[in-house]
Amino acid sequence: MKKTVSVLGSTGSIGTQSLEVCEKHGLGVTALAAHSSVKLLAEQARKFRPEYIGIYNEEKYTELKSALSDMNVKIVCGMEGLCEIAALPQTDIVLNSVVGMVGLLPTLTAIDAGKDIALANKETLVAGGELVMSEIAKKGIALYPVDSEHSAIFQCLQGNKRSQLSKVILTASGGPFFGKTYDELRSVTKEQALNHPNWDMGSKITIDSATLMNKGLEFIEAKWLFDLTPDQIEIVVHRQSVVHSAVEYDDFSVIAQLGVPDMKIPIQYALLYPDRKPCPTGRLSLTDYGKLTFEKPDFETFRCLSTAIEAIKRGGAYPCLVNSANEEAVRAFLNDEIRFIEIGEIVSAVLDRFEPSQINCYDDVMKADKAAREYVRAAVSER
Ligand code: MG
Repeated sequence: MKKTVSVLGSTGSIGTQSLEVCEKHGLGVTALAAHSSVKLLAEQARKFRPEYIGIYNEEKYTELKSALSDMNVKIVCGMEGLCEIAALPQTDIVLNSVVGMVGLLPTLTAIDAGKDIALANKETLVAGGELVMSEIAKKGIALYPVDSEHSAIFQCLQGNKRSQLSKVILTASGGPFFGKTYDELRSVTKEQALNHPNWDMGSKITIDSATLMNKGLEFIEAKWLFDLTPDQIEIVVHRQSVVHSAVEYDDFSVIAQLGVPDMKIPIQYALLYPDRKPCPTGRLSLTDYGKLTFEKPDFETFRCLSTAIEAIKRGGAYPCLVNSANEEAVRAFLNDEIRFIEIGEIVSAVLDRFEPSQINCYDDVMKADKAAREYVRAAVSER
């Protein structure tokens, strides 16, 4: 039996590529949800004929309803709608590719409903890692990573003993500003920051890749997904994005996963697991690359990276605070309110600014989220 999938965030980069994978392999699409892109969402609805369509931005509800007035589809909206879709009994797997913290409640709802999850929303695990992982353990559902690095690690774990893992090697492209000094980063423009050398992604993650916050978030994500200690995770800059990550075992054998830099490979592995079938992407030709390089990251220049790692070492609410502060700082940068270099300045100040506190429930996450955003908004308006 082919699996049925619900896609949260269907109009984004991961969402649209997920639908390509569903189409290629004939997977059923039960539901689609997007933030606010009515036009693309309506097109997807006509093509994939889901039972449910969700729109997060409630102001777009009427527009969507009239765009699909001739279709027999249930239309839901807001966070409530996203959560209704996340819990549908007729869905086998919920692919969550929502951007940001907004994805946390739908993830928790899907787990509670006993759905398997393909997770592309890394902020979910950064902000609520402890909560999410303990709920997953209680429900016994499967969590498939969609992030390319974490999919690589997941693939390298197959057929090996988890107890004999010694560390993971998380590769990083280094982003568009690898090799630049802190001073050189002062003059970076928005256009430069939005121009990633290897991956074509949404604007939030593209900025996170330029600040290396993305790798910091992935460090935290890896810690939760694979139950690692921070000193078991090594970050290596690999400019070509061909080695997507690797696992070292107790015998010092290192197993890596390689492929062209195309998200459809990890998306497909999550949706078809454990099957491997031809993916709608190109083959990897190692000789086309000729040379693969590996270097150390510059933790001092890229403050977001060191801040995220320090946050998970401290634990409690710090990862959530840092993530929310980053979301807000990136928003301010994209709105031309702050310079590129200020993202790291603002985010790193969170570690000194907030006293340690614990995350025991969803409300604790929301409280930390609100406090971090208020701090950033105040810091931005002072500049
Ligand atoms: Mg990644």
